[in-house]
Amino acid sequence: MMTFTHETLPQRVVFAAHQMAERLPAEVARLGARPMVITTRGEVLPGALHYREVVMHVPAEVAERARKVTAAEGIDVLVSVGGGSATGLAKAIALTTGLPIVAVPTTYAGSEATNVWGMTENGRKTTGADLRVLPRTILYDAALTLGLPTELGVASGLNALAHCVDSMWAPRADPINQALAIAGARALSSGLPEIVRQPDNLRGREQTLYGAHLAAVAFASAGSGLHHKICHVLGGMFNLPHAQTHAVVLPYVMELNSPGIPDGLADALGPGGLARLRAEVGAPRALRDQGFREADIPAAVDAILPVVPAGNPVPVTAGNLTELLRRAWAGEEPK
Ligand code: NAD
Repeated sequence: MMTFTHETLPQRVVFAAHQMAERLPAEVARLGARPMVITTRGEVLPGALHYREVVMHVPAEVAERARKVTAAEGIDVLVSVGGGSATGLAKAIALTTGLPIVAVPTTYAGSEATNVWGMTENGRKTTGADLRVLPRTILYDAALTLGLPTELGVASGLNALAHCVDSMWAPRADPINQALAIAGARALSSGLPEIVRQPDNLRGREQTLYGAHLAAVAFASAGSGLHHKICHVLGGMFNLPHAQTHAVVLPYVMELNSPGIPDGLADALGPGGLARLRAEVGAPRALRDQGFREADIPAAVDAILPVVPAGNPVPVTAGNLTELLRRAWAGEEPK
């Protein structure tokens, strides 16, 4: 028997390498006449206001300043060009103003395909889901990722893979988001090694960007599973780098949750699975290299245990969580 309720988010998705400059004006004009471009890159939309204060995890005061500018300038559409931090600022503005967003992602974070927003205040990150923050249009131009340093691209791509993996056991996991996640994992596990082998070749970047999109669509539908709960706590409490933390923690969550990994995901990752992929791309290996200290483990365990999703395939205890974090801290070889 198959019983589930699945919601699909409404979005226009344009996939066109090397075509941002040509396509963006028309995509923006469908939604408004006075755009504000949020980016740390150069002039993206000639003649439009460009807003440059982009800060990781969107501090509330940064969002507030940007909202004031949109009001003062009569802005009616937001354009974010950048990674999850640029998209995140656009979402924080949209949350209170309802302004539509055109998102042009330049990493594989996937925020552009979710209705999830995040903001930080006094060192605490708050997140929520709201349809107002879902970008109306995504313009994917894989050529924009050519400047992404390989190391960052790898961490970001593994962050995308984490969306796929967590979609297997997240609270709203269902056959539709699992199918998307498995297709996403397949694209990521073929695209990422190509980026490392041939950084200037667009094909691997297109595959990875496509996989990152599927991953984010799956994740937005399935919700946060154990992996995201762990990384959310680590990022928030210890200020660890987002993509790298995901990249390190993923194999240990898969190790713990191995009874919940469907054959389809294992097939998508191919022979050797995640271990082969991590070796091929030179993935970051230990939380100790990302600023996490062994002495922080007990506090992390205390913060993670209450937020472990009820449907996790394996019961999570202080004992197995401590061991997971210790192994991830040390970078021990995952089984
Ligand atoms: P980021 O946006 O902070 O970018 C990382 C760095 O890479 C920045 O210095 C940026 O300027 C640079 N960069 C980005 N694209 C580049 C390119 N093409 N070439 C050269 N440099 C480039 O990091 P991220 O990993 O993309 O996003 C992380 C943030 O996104 C976190 O705050 C995370 O919580 C959020 N996020 C949110 C969701 C969601 O659904 N709301 C999903 C994933 C991530």
